[in-house]
Amino acid sequence: MILVRQSVAQSILPPVPEWKGESELLIANPGNPWVTPTEKSGFITTPGYNETMNWFKKLAAASPLISMVSIGKSPDGREIFMMIVSAEKTITATALKKSSKPLLLVQAGIHPGEIDGKDAGMMLLRDIAFGGKKDLLQRVNLLFIPILNVDGHERTSPYNRPNQRGPENMGWRTNAQNLNLNRDYAKLDTREIRAVIKVINEYEPDLYMDIHVTDGADYQYDITFGGLEGQGHSKGISHWLATTFKRQADNDLKANGHIPGPLLFSANDIDFSKGNVLIMGDPRFSDAYADLRHLAAVLVENHSLKPFKQRVLGTYVLLESTMKLLATKGKSLIEVTKADKAKRETTLPMKWKVPQMSSAASFETQVNVLNKDTGATAPDSLILLGVESRIVKSAVTNASYPKWTGRKVTMTIANYKGTEGIAFVTRPKAYYLPASCYDVIERLQIHGIKMEILDQPREVSVEMYRIRDAKFSNGDGRVLPFEGHIQVTGTTQPESHQQTFAAGSAFISTDQPLGDLAMILLEPGSPDSYFQWGFFHSIFQRTEYIEYYVMEPMAKKMLEASPALQKEFEEKKAQDKKFANDQNAILTWFYSKTKFYDDRYLLYPVARVL
Ligand SMILES: [Zn+2]
Repeated sequence: MILVRQSVAQSILPPVPEWKGESELLIANPGNPWVTPTEKSGFITTPGYNETMNWFKKLAAASPLISMVSIGKSPDGREIFMMIVSAEKTITATALKKSSKPLLLVQAGIHPGEIDGKDAGMMLLRDIAFGGKKDLLQRVNLLFIPILNVDGHERTSPYNRPNQRGPENMGWRTNAQNLNLNRDYAKLDTREIRAVIKVINEYEPDLYMDIHVTDGADYQYDITFGGLEGQGHSKGISHWLATTFKRQADNDLKANGHIPGPLLFSANDIDFSKGNVLIMGDPRFSDAYADLRHLAAVLVENHSLKPFKQRVLGTYVLLESTMKLLATKGKSLIEVTKADKAKRETTLPMKWKVPQMSSAASFETQVNVLNKDTGATAPDSLILLGVESRIVKSAVTNASYPKWTGRKVTMTIANYKGTEGIAFVTRPKAYYLPASCYDVIERLQIHGIKMEILDQPREVSVEMYRIRDAKFSNGDGRVLPFEGHIQVTGTTQPESHQQTFAAGSAFISTDQPLGDLAMILLEPGSPDSYFQWGFFHSIFQRTEYIEYYVMEPMAKKMLEASPALQKEFEEKKAQDKKFANDQNAILTWFYSKTKFYDDRYLLYPVARVL
């Protein structure tokens, strides 16, 4: 292995513009007893897990406004701590939930290499406790998780994120199980995300902020953030985020010398010549999950090419701005949230797409077609504070790649948004999950979905799906695990059933605020359903068989008894040569038409009450 020193990798990064801002005044001087380890290092390094938690322990011991609780343990046994920052007399989950003050939940270090939120939070909590910012708590309460992925945070190295300007010691993206926590919100495999969901259910925050650092293209912005801008399942909340929240955050950041921008994902994965695409993610992501459960969420993506100090200070400004906003406008957020929670849409989209594009082909191909004036509706546009790039020919691969020159350019680009719902499913009154699906039942309970557990067997008329054309893969046609799962898709064929559910089975009404979430987790057409994550693979196994010496004479008798079957058989053989030459396929075909055949084969066991 050839080691490229981190400082060398950093010198390869595109040029960084000189930056000065009002927010630099937030940095404590070295004589301050509560100077953070990061400030002390001049924003070169970030403290490890132990140093961070010891610092917080001392702060909590010294200030009545701050307490520290463990919300769970990581796979490697580290406590995941949360700071409760509040001027309330009683500081329990119940008290904070009942308080009339809006509650902000801020989470840092879900991807520990992207740690800006932790360091910004340390500075802000210090200033609330001892730096004259106590008043922030007059009308708001704050929950702060400094490091969510604590194990990944300790897999530290200067080589973890080559596209990022500091700190020198960066954590690792995935947890100790090599799982990406920001793909786990729907399926809930990890202790870390289970801990966060427990916090959301117990404290019921009004706004949830998840802080990251993004690489990808170069642009002028140092901090990008957003809600889902009119996309998704909580229209009132997303409108509030795109207007009320964005206005104040942008103003405060600009006043402090920062350059706030929208979430950016280049359509061609290279530069912004083909526009920006804001796709509505599935609820495996924090922001899309929160949207589905009608909780306002802001995804923060600082720009990796900006220096660590600038990113931390921008995050601090955004956190303080959010607290001030909730103090004055929190009531309006609570109102729109209530309205979104009360809605019961009669049909729900399982997926979202960009209206100008088919969901099949790659964005780049489609963008190229769209640019040739296909008559499709034009996307929104966006004024981008960009950076000039040139496509240069590679001396290594002979292909081309973008080189960022550092020269500022302002350009108007297409802005595609995944606002169109597709694959709609009618909302059932309720679902039944058989007692045998206890693992899924338990996960739904962790989500906070209300349910009745049957204390005696119940016979009911339900609709169930037979799964057809199942495909086990991960999109590129190969069967490979994704986040530890072999995923599956299939088509659903509804059937009416009279079914008895044993004691211990779950009855889940969709007439509840988390009814949309229940649908997205239980409908097999949803990409983040437990079905597609592979929790029901055993329905694809046939477990009882019939011998040829029984099936041969039986098939003969069946043909003699039914001319219609004879006709169907001849036609099938004529149409399907492979079938006609496959003894096993033929006898299985006859078997499937007998009463001996397993009627639960390919039957998805979750039932819908219509
Ligand atoms: Zn991230």
